[in-house]
Amino acid sequence: MSLAEVLDAIRAEVREEYLSTAQSYPWIVGFSAGKDSTALLQLVIDSVLDLPPDARKRPIHILLNDTLVESPVYMEHVDQVLQRIRTALPALGLPCVVHRAVPETDQTFWVNLIGRGYPSPNRQFRWCTDRMKIAPTNNYIKSVVSESGQAVLLLGVRRDESASRAQSINRYNPGATRLNPHNSLPGCLVFRPLVDLSTDDLWSFLLQSPPPWGGSHRGLVTLYRNLSSGECPLVLDKADAPSCGSSSYRFGCWTCTVVQKDRSMAAQIDAGHEWLEPLMAFRDYLYEIRNNLDYRDEERRNGQQGIGPFTMAARREILDRLIEVQREVGRTLITEPELRRIREIWSEDLAAISKRRFALADIEVETGHGVAK
Ligand code: SF4
Repeated sequence: MSLAEVLDAIRAEVREEYLSTAQSYPWIVGFSAGKDSTALLQLVIDSVLDLPPDARKRPIHILLNDTLVESPVYMEHVDQVLQRIRTALPALGLPCVVHRAVPETDQTFWVNLIGRGYPSPNRQFRWCTDRMKIAPTNNYIKSVVSESGQAVLLLGVRRDESASRAQSINRYNPGATRLNPHNSLPGCLVFRPLVDLSTDDLWSFLLQSPPPWGGSHRGLVTLYRNLSSGECPLVLDKADAPSCGSSSYRFGCWTCTVVQKDRSMAAQIDAGHEWLEPLMAFRDYLYEIRNNLDYRDEERRNGQQGIGPFTMAARREILDRLIEVQREVGRTLITEPELRRIREIWSEDLAAISKRRFALADIEVETGHGVAK
């Protein structure tokens, strides 16, 4: 099959599914602005634009996850693309909305790390994926499902992407039907129109076809050329998450300490983004202090003995250094609402610590230890 035939078959399938009256629920396109989801969104919009305007009834939600600590270079590209899409949609006459799913202020990277003192994430305690990726996207999908009764989630996953991706597709798509129930989101069906598209064909398509929202794919190509990189796809459950925080050249959180070295950020610096150097040094610092017991409480947050969260002194030091890096690079790295929430958690924690000390002092007095001192 030629590339043109492959693409025609995908567009025909997308149109057929879009028009299917049996399942006229909203579509949610998982979009990360990387190569796979960009090709998916472009093929979806192209296909729907081929339909007469009065047939374009089914709402399409374009869903992007932003952990608020994404690689800044990648986010610049994402912001540009989203801006173009938002501007172009009304003129294209498409029933689309764009939604950026972010973690709740109480659950951002900084609020957990600096506020609660959660140690910088590693493979054993990767507390971030659930809170910053899975929960925000799942909550949005659940809200669409609860409003409409059901929803169809379109993902740009492809077997050709990697052996583990092929395995995960086969696991969740055993019958290879077009729509499959999502394994953990009731009422959500999954549609993977690009599943058999090869990586070469995907790039040929992107290089030959400008996006319907205007501009070109030049920014995307430059990103991949600089990083020889992969995208961090929309993560909906833990089965999607092995790539999150992996040591391959992937876009992801600039704060990620699950990897020993951030090869992606190093490649961006080599490609001319020297201003990222303070961020890389800060990430390395977060990686180092995680295993330094001087930075960790001797009690867990639940009061049990054991290696606990970062001490209050460590949290203060991390915040001071982050503010310093923020000043140095001249970009917002932590927001005012996060700072407010951190202060609240600190006062709650300090109150709890002094309560425990008083209780301990009472016990010592009762048992006579306090008198001896
Ligand atoms: S990229 Fe790293 S820090 Fe970000 S959610 Fe994944 S594991 Fe956590």
